[in-house]
Amino acid sequence: MPRNVYGPDHEAFRASVREFVERSLKPRAEDFIAAKSIDRAVWLEAGKQGLLGLDIPEEYGGAGADDFLFNAVAAEEFSKFNAAVSSCFGIHADVCPPYIVDLGTEEQKQRWLPRMAAGELICGIAMTEPSGGSDLAALKTTAVRDGDDWVVNGSKTFITNGYQGDLIIVAARTDPSKGAKGITLFMLETGMEGFTRGRKLDKVGQEESDTAELFFDNVRVPDANRIGEEGRGFIAMMERLPQERVGAAVSNTAHAFQILAETIEYVKERKAFGQPVGTFQHNKFKIAEMQTKLEVTQAYVDDCVAAHAKGELTAVDAAKAKWWSAQVQNDVLDECVQLYGGYGFMNEYRVARAWRDARVTKIWAGSNEIMKELIGRDLGL
Ligand SMILES: Cc1cc2nc3c(=O)[nH]c(=O)nc-3n(C[C@H](O)[C@H](O)[C@H](O)COP(=O)(O)OP(=O)(O)OC[C@H]3O[C@@H](n4cnc5c(N)ncnc54)[C@H](O)[C@@H]3O)c2cc1C
Repeated sequence: MPRNVYGPDHEAFRASVREFVERSLKPRAEDFIAAKSIDRAVWLEAGKQGLLGLDIPEEYGGAGADDFLFNAVAAEEFSKFNAAVSSCFGIHADVCPPYIVDLGTEEQKQRWLPRMAAGELICGIAMTEPSGGSDLAALKTTAVRDGDDWVVNGSKTFITNGYQGDLIIVAARTDPSKGAKGITLFMLETGMEGFTRGRKLDKVGQEESDTAELFFDNVRVPDANRIGEEGRGFIAMMERLPQERVGAAVSNTAHAFQILAETIEYVKERKAFGQPVGTFQHNKFKIAEMQTKLEVTQAYVDDCVAAHAKGELTAVDAAKAKWWSAQVQNDVLDECVQLYGGYGFMNEYRVARAWRDARVTKIWAGSNEIMKELIGRDLGL
């Protein structure tokens, strides 16, 4: 089915993202794995090419695109190359900027946005804590007012871009008596005394992304680093999670499509019992099912992307796109590994890494269970 969500401008932008992937990312793929992170030089190159400031207005050094379709195009192209790279760039360029653009003061926008768009400052967002991520309203990190500062204590874990991030949006409890209404967002910056990081976490997949623990020991954070109103942090996150989730759905679908396409090429070549393994009826049918499932998924995700670009996507529809695409992606990649036989279990084959990389999509940014909880609640259950 032809896709009709993207126009000529989006396709021209796609060509430039592809060119960046070929030139700046592909030759360094092994370096990212070895370093467990994306080199700062690559962030700067991405910034120079205008890939990190799509959501940032022009007066603050961004592209001022104000059209989520461009973000979706970038997410697709990065995911086709590598899921971890897509996640790191996505957190920095799609997830974090809206907090500052929508909620930041003029001084904060001028201080951070131009350097974020340039790739000079790497950004992350820290919600999850060692004691739990699904029940965000129960977070334990505290921020206590002291004059013009806030004193932050606690810890976060599994934070993407957490190790090399220069700016981390941290959700902290400012009023213990108010539950979700007692949470406020702060920007923590590298170099603040008492703000330390653990090691880069050793993950099952997505080795290229830097995922870290963060520790806050009496960190003095100026009130000038508070993002948005006191007590409005939880609402700010809930309002922006649909964008993160539809972005995840875009990445999940593109990633699975890419690996399926590579698998189809493989099974045309690989022979068993004198014929290509893809021509056995069982395998042909499996592949036909996967292609169909992905195309149907793509249609729903495209509709969500279009709705989000118009400001009409509901949190519940974003949840549907996120859990469904994650499930389909994982189902498809598992079958792709099977079609590669033993090679599918070897790290030197992209399919093996992609299969490991995909596993987390059912967990992060709100697990599949939490997505279904949101959908069920919306149905009055
Ligand atoms: C690679 C990676 C990168 C990440 N990046 C970030 C990041 O940048 N920033 C950030 O803040 N977080 C990040 N996360 C954290 C991620 O969002 C959390 O892991 C996720 O929200 C789940 O929280 P948890 O791990 O504490 O699991 P828990 O909340 O302890 O849940 C454990 C299990 O119980 C299930 N469960 C919980 N509540 C319910 C319920 N009500 N009904 C049914 N089942 C339920 C969950 O679905 C899950 O299966 C990242 C995680 C990973 C692995």
